[in-house]
Amino acid sequence: MYDVIIIGAGPAGLTSALYLRRANKKVLVLEAKNYGGQIVNANKIENYPAIESISGFDFATNLYNQVKKMEAEIKFETVVRIEDEKTVITNNNEYKAKAIIIATGSTNRKLNIEKEKDFIGKGISYCASCDGNFYKDKIVAVNGGGNTALEDALYLSDLASKVYLIHRRDEFKGEDIYLDKLKNKDNVEIILNSQIIKLEGKNKLEKILIKNKKNKTRKLSIDGLFIAIGQEPKNEIFKNVVDLDEKGYIITNNDVCTKTQGIYVAGDARVKNLRQLTTAVSDGSIAATMAIKDIK
Ligand SMILES: Cc1cc2nc3c(=O)[nH]c(=O)nc-3n(C[C@H](O)[C@H](O)[C@H](O)COP(=O)(O)OP(=O)(O)OC[C@H]3O[C@@H](n4cnc5c(N)ncnc54)[C@H](O)[C@@H]3O)c2cc1C
Repeated sequence: MYDVIIIGAGPAGLTSALYLRRANKKVLVLEAKNYGGQIVNANKIENYPAIESISGFDFATNLYNQVKKMEAEIKFETVVRIEDEKTVITNNNEYKAKAIIIATGSTNRKLNIEKEKDFIGKGISYCASCDGNFYKDKIVAVNGGGNTALEDALYLSDLASKVYLIHRRDEFKGEDIYLDKLKNKDNVEIILNSQIIKLEGKNKLEKILIKNKKNKTRKLSIDGLFIAIGQEPKNEIFKNVVDLDEKGYIITNNDVCTKTQGIYVAGDARVKNLRQLTTAVSDGSIAATMAIKDIK
């Protein structure tokens, strides 16, 4: 019997493990892939307080080593469900705990075209507030039609020299308030009814090819492409113990508690306005503190 099982070894889950080990709790972290979560893909992090600049890999490795030093148990197994509110089932085993922290994050929806993976961190980003600053006075494109894409385009229009906003439909899903502001920006060009069909570049992204509904193509030279076509949380497997919103994020109160006593959610997996490192580690520390109270 563990005191707490943490599902996911991203920034949120590892922070929970750190807090729990410092309180001398018996902790098991279960991770489906590699430690570090999404941040491993970040070329540079420059928005984490007190760290001017660090690669995503170094950030994740520092955190992982810090947690290992505190002797948290970490196993690389995929969780498939939670049973009777205290049992965590993985693809290999079954573990029991007094409390559970879900920190499974989310993934950015991909365009799924050739070279997309190769250019992540080399011209392709899924997070304008993380990476926008690297494109000061450069030419960027934003792909998407919801509020995130519109907000990203607005944010980038104050940094970049030119912003192309590319959307596959003839209308945006995002709110008019953002669109009206964008239309008043001299450096924003809105391209509707168009899809990105090809990414070009040698060691980094240099050009994108777009095709409109009439099959007309156009090549754009850009320094950065921000893909904002949504996120995919992975919480369906927890539906028996938590409530999900319409997008699949777990509903919690401000103290990251779910509807089930003893089950908490930290990081990108839960309903929130900002999915970043600062909010993930903040959630991780709160979840651990709530779990400690619960065990008592
Ligand atoms: C390319 C990129 C660059 C970024 N740059 C920045 C930046 O500069 N600054 C910033 O603040 N934020 C940045 N972010 C966002 C930041 O990485 C996330 O907000 C943060 O990682 C969320 O942490 P998390 O622990 O909640 O989730 P995640 O990082 O998503 O980690 C969740 C972990 O849970 C694991 N998992 C999922 N399901 C299961 C399961 N069933 N069983 C076991 N394990 C499971 C996953 O494998 C993963 O390791 C960036 C994101 C990306 C993709």
